[in-house]
Amino acid sequence: MNVEELSGLAPGAVSHFREQGIESLYPPQAAAVEAGVLEGENLVAAVPTASGKTMIAALAMLSAIERGGKALYIVPLRALASEKKAEFDAYEAFGVSVGVTTGNYESTSDWLASRDIIVATSEKVDSLVRNGADWLTDLTCVVSDEVHLIDDRSRGPTLEVTLAKLRKLNPTLQTVALSATVGNAAELADWLEADLVDTDWRPIDLRMGVHYGNALNFDDGSTREVPVEGTEKQEAALVRDILDEGGSSLVFVSSRRNAEAAARDLSSVTTRALTDDERTDLAALADEIRDVSDTETSEDLAACVERGAAFHHAGLASEHRSLVEDAFRDRLLKLIAATPTLAAGVNTPARRVIVRDWRRFDPSAGGMTPLPVLEVHQMMGRAGRPGLDPYGEAVLLAKGHEDMNELFDRYVWAEPEAVRSKLAAEPALRTHVLATIASGFARTREGLLDFLAETLYASQTTERGRLESVTDDVLQYLEANDFIEREGETASEGSDGFVSADELAGEPSSVELQATSLGHTVSRLYLDPMSAAEIVHGLESTDDRPTALGCYQLIARTPDMYELYLRSGEDEQYAELFYERESELLGDAPSEFEDVRFEDWLAALKTGKLLEDWANEEEESRLTDRYRIGPGDLRGKVDTAEWLLGAAESLAAEIDSEWTVAVREARARVEHGVREELLELVGIRGVGRKRARQLYAAGLETPADLRTADKGVVLGALKGTKTAETILENAGREDPSMDGVEERSGDGNGGVERAGGAPADEPDEEPTKNQSSLGDF
Ligand code: ADP
Repeated sequence: MNVEELSGLAPGAVSHFREQGIESLYPPQAAAVEAGVLEGENLVAAVPTASGKTMIAALAMLSAIERGGKALYIVPLRALASEKKAEFDAYEAFGVSVGVTTGNYESTSDWLASRDIIVATSEKVDSLVRNGADWLTDLTCVVSDEVHLIDDRSRGPTLEVTLAKLRKLNPTLQTVALSATVGNAAELADWLEADLVDTDWRPIDLRMGVHYGNALNFDDGSTREVPVEGTEKQEAALVRDILDEGGSSLVFVSSRRNAEAAARDLSSVTTRALTDDERTDLAALADEIRDVSDTETSEDLAACVERGAAFHHAGLASEHRSLVEDAFRDRLLKLIAATPTLAAGVNTPARRVIVRDWRRFDPSAGGMTPLPVLEVHQMMGRAGRPGLDPYGEAVLLAKGHEDMNELFDRYVWAEPEAVRSKLAAEPALRTHVLATIASGFARTREGLLDFLAETLYASQTTERGRLESVTDDVLQYLEANDFIEREGETASEGSDGFVSADELAGEPSSVELQATSLGHTVSRLYLDPMSAAEIVHGLESTDDRPTALGCYQLIARTPDMYELYLRSGEDEQYAELFYERESELLGDAPSEFEDVRFEDWLAALKTGKLLEDWANEEEESRLTDRYRIGPGDLRGKVDTAEWLLGAAESLAAEIDSEWTVAVREARARVEHGVREELLELVGIRGVGRKRARQLYAAGLETPADLRTADKGVVLGALKGTKTAETILENAGREDPSMDGVEERSGDGNGGVERAGGAPADEPDEEPTKNQSSLGDF
């Protein structure tokens, strides 16, 4: 089908597609049109990676908008939100506006009411529903990208519940679900009352195979000789072989450390294939990478990049990731060694994909377990760039003949698994039941069960009564922790006011379930109720003002913070720290004889200590070394801590705790990575932790000091005239010019005139919070 034949789109849309090189529809796209995607029909499209699913989404959204509607595009990862937004921004040429919203789970983002297309993560959409964003009821089309992630234990339930809620809010909503090829696409389509396009079609040939000995054996029976020379590794031979014909490789491995090691090893292969021009460009790219952050990871990455290879994993800073992805797409980088996170959607195809590790460490199994077929197929699907490569090749590695047969059976010939709902897992249900009650989606137990009946879980479960019994357990937990209460019922209430699950189950339908004020706060804050319970209990259990470490360890204990693991030998080290600082920790410590609980407690202490070290102004690179984490991990922990401490502050206010200020201070310190005395200075835009420390050392302690200080001292502390001027201006100094000013070292008083011994930090103006930069990162 030619794009000119498409009807119901804005006049400029067709020419836009043509400019993108889309002249005629791919078969799955044509099938979607036939299924009515342009007329508002629901659709599940289960199509291989890189086979034009975005175009199907575009057709649905643009036709909905042309009919006067509004569309929402749900992405699984934040990193993908900005990528999709950039892609859809091109529609502005024909009058379609686009907005993106991620993070900040407390805002309803009202400005989005005026946008035609909104891109958001499933967590953000869930929070928008909870916070009652008005514009949600204006939606006429929702697209859910990578919908097979409903199977994901930690994030799947949110997507599942969010889709069910959106569909309940707007019964006429068009739902378009985009999925990788999965075992039960028809079941997903039934659940969403949708038509189904389920196909293996790909725009570019994919040959899957297994390398063993000196040959690559493909699924179509053909072979290709790829000899392994001397002590060379199989993957090195495969990379070299494809480079010889101008192709790039993507190597998937099981861990971050393996990704870094593989990139380092394989860079000795890629470096041999570089031209002089490429070397120059790669050296410039390496400098850009070093500029992003001053850490070992950054340096290691730059060293690989100079040689034409890179690693890619979730521990990288996002700037690192996009530099690497762009250079790989531009064919400047010849190889990426990645963990599977990349396969989830970032568009980085390569001529040859090598799935080196097909087992991964699974803590719940206590050992290495094989990856799901679905995941391996997604990695393999990254092979082949339409228009650039003649075909794509995806390769697994076998050590022996039997190995090879196993890999063919396990992955090459195998069908991907079915998507199974994970909603019945308790943390998921706990969170979503509270949210469903708090946002008024359900007001009675029956209403709640009716709503849950709309989920994929309900359509898949064969165990009768299971959903009901877990729901009752959850209701009991929520009530015991004072997050919900029942109204309009007296008969079955016991004298203690507490209601058992049986009583709840048997209660008449007139009984209203309501969130308490605390419950509303928890739901609005987007916390797991168990995290909230832990924080509330921790704050209530102390008579002394909590220290920063106390606050940090408390939030590190919650299920919303991924703790650092204890490495071997570290239990003793942290047990020692625990005894030293036990009095600072909030809540009831488990006894050291309760092995698992005690170890969790120490792991939280380790995470808390990392945050304390950061807030004590320790160098980023020392922390990443000491805790053996990447700069992206440190950033992630700091972000999560900021969010959880912000939530803890709201909870403290809610329960009338006297420790609100202590929590706020702990939060501000972790946000900026500074000791208490620098908090005012980092409130100035352009002043990060390092500059604040330099100013303070020169005796300049507050924004007010900067307004009256001797300019020479400011210049001496900050170096750089331009920086000094900008910062003085941001601090509100009338004449920030540094013309003719000479550097002076501070006299410890910062050249500040302190009339009559008045304190230097007279609060004549609130420092502008939230504008400070983390530029030192
Ligand atoms: P998916 O979302 O399925 O992983 P994309 O939608 O990103 O894949 O499509 C992969 C590439 O194919 C994109 O570069 C896109 O522009 C291109 N493409 C999509 N549809 C067509 C088409 N009908 N003709 C030519 N190119 C297309």
